[in-house]
Amino acid sequence: MVKKIAILAGDGIGNEIMEQALKVMRAMSLPLEYESGLVGGVAYAAHGHPLPECTLKLAKESDAVLFGAVGDYRYDTLERHLRPEQAILGLRKALGLFVNLRPAICFPELTSASSLKPELVAGLDLLLVRELTGDVYFGQPRGRRKSPDGFFPGAEEGFDTMRYSEPEVERIAHVAFQTAMGRKKHLVSVDKANVLETSQLWRDTMNRIAKEYPEVTLEHMYVDNAAMQLVRAPKKLDVIVTGNLFGDILSDEAAMLTGSIGMLASAALNEKKQGLYEPSHGSAPDIAGKNIANPLAQILSAAMMLRYSLDMPDEAVAIEEAVKQVLRQGYRTGDIWSEGCTKVSCSEMGDAVVKALR
Ligand code: NAD
Repeated sequence: MVKKIAILAGDGIGNEIMEQALKVMRAMSLPLEYESGLVGGVAYAAHGHPLPECTLKLAKESDAVLFGAVGDYRYDTLERHLRPEQAILGLRKALGLFVNLRPAICFPELTSASSLKPELVAGLDLLLVRELTGDVYFGQPRGRRKSPDGFFPGAEEGFDTMRYSEPEVERIAHVAFQTAMGRKKHLVSVDKANVLETSQLWRDTMNRIAKEYPEVTLEHMYVDNAAMQLVRAPKKLDVIVTGNLFGDILSDEAAMLTGSIGMLASAALNEKKQGLYEPSHGSAPDIAGKNIANPLAQILSAAMMLRYSLDMPDEAVAIEEAVKQVLRQGYRTGDIWSEGCTKVSCSEMGDAVVKALR
């Protein structure tokens, strides 16, 4: 059956990098139908909203959304709900995307881009599973008030509520254990159970769900220790699962281990495995329209889409292997270029990946 993909390229370098991902997928003659929609600043310019109804409808009807990037400084002064970046939050909410998968892969050819010693990161391949819809970011009550107690009664204070329900933790736990089953069968759950009640419930629930996955070794780690281990010995980690707040911070830390933001893909999935796939970087307005952006994160996002939403794991591997091959061949866009390598444009990098596929 032909599956439908919503192509939302967005702003800045979005179009240039999306063109390369489409080039790669079309070269594979996959049973996919592509339909494009406007999102972000370009959608605001055309429809007065960063996530117009027609785009939302397209996303809901599709099996997966391949997303470029949004963000345009021209719209930074708009009311918050009309800014380009709000489109991502709107899509997450409308599609019920509760899990974020963020791989951090350090290709051996690019270890010099990392701020860590090459031996610590060469060959790094870890996956962070972050819960996306709960935690202190969304917990009520929240607000500003005169402090009713504490050290400074009567003073202005801000407050938020960290909360997770058991079913919320259960569903992310299942995703994490199943992901670990497909990898090294080692799962690290990150919390702060020595201090937080929410974390204790998280930990108890993880332990209970672990019984359903006896082949997976579950290890618990406090978030402060996890932050340390990520820079001390990241290769000892394989799959990490954590809540929204800790995941937000640790996923950026893990991403930076690789040093090359133009290489990192990410996915957000719902219970039906419908997903939104996007590079981890933004719209890079400083280099937009120059055909110099690195399209590999977008191409690797397409590979993730084939694996996690479209049940095409072999095709995903084919793309990932093609990317590894172009790196081995020495092709580099400006952001990852180093002495002795061949500097290529965004479109030339796309062509090189297509050639490597064959
Ligand atoms: P950015 O990721 O767009 O750019 C940071 C730096 O990395 C820039 O120097 C840029 O040129 C470079 N860079 C990023 N992607 C690259 C690529 N593929 N190839 C080569 N170089 C690349 O972050 P920013 O500058 O902080 O934000 C720019 C805009 O993007 C803002 O409007 C921001 O809100 C938005 N943004 C969007 C997303 C998203 O769409 N998911 C994420 C982050 C930022």
